[in-house]
Amino acid sequence: MKVDVQANLRLVLERVAAAAARSGRRPEEVKLVAVTKNVPVEVMREALAAGVKAFGENRAQELAAKYPLFPPEVEWHFIGHLQTNKVKQVIDRACLIHSLDSWRLALEISKRAREKGKTVPVLVQVNISGEKSKYGLAAGEVKDFLVEVSALPGIAVRGLMTIAPLVEDPEEARPVFRELSRLAARLRAELPAVNLEYLSMGMSNDYTVAVEEGANIIRVGSAIFGPREN
Ligand SMILES: *Cc1c(COP(=O)(O)O)cnc(C)c1O
Repeated sequence: MKVDVQANLRLVLERVAAAAARSGRRPEEVKLVAVTKNVPVEVMREALAAGVKAFGENRAQELAAKYPLFPPEVEWHFIGHLQTNKVKQVIDRACLIHSLDSWRLALEISKRAREKGKTVPVLVQVNISGEKSKYGLAAGEVKDFLVEVSALPGIAVRGLMTIAPLVEDPEEARPVFRELSRLAARLRAELPAVNLEYLSMGMSNDYTVAVEEGANIIRVGSAIFGPREN
């Protein structure tokens, strides 16, 4: 059966608006990144026509292949683990890298950005749940890391990102989101010079809970585009 992207999108936006209201915010304060990994270009065009403004990709090659097929006003977000040898491909295209997860990657982004005379906005990925399978810094490592990355040219921290464990009941993900929010609040007080305006958290299964806990960027794929085949 063909997926009704427009109807799915409408439902997601309604649920985001309700969750934003529950957390005392306006719907416009939450940015929706439509995660388009493995989504065909024709379907992405439907999403654009339905009002999507930002796409999220997790592979550098897929981003590079799709990027020239869309108008320049489309925003591209890089949300996957980024290998240092792919940094060049990504920094030319992504407006925000959500997944800064190592010092080595920070150095490479800084170096490549300086070569191009640009500053690349990034979020620091935090592994709140501590699952071994997940990338990201431990919560206790984030402060020192932010101080060090902030001293690098060509890279600009804009916030934090996390991925919650895949659970049946999204309520089980709530403590993870709450902890990232609290960590951000603490670090904003302790490091006022570091910009931590964005909290990227929440996916198809748990975005309403994430918004209730303060997410202002959500990364939603299958709730818009239907189940993926991988
Ligand atoms: C795939 C992916 C998403 C979207 O997942 P859905 O469950 O399809 O919404 C969000 N964030 C990251 C980092 C992803 O890799």
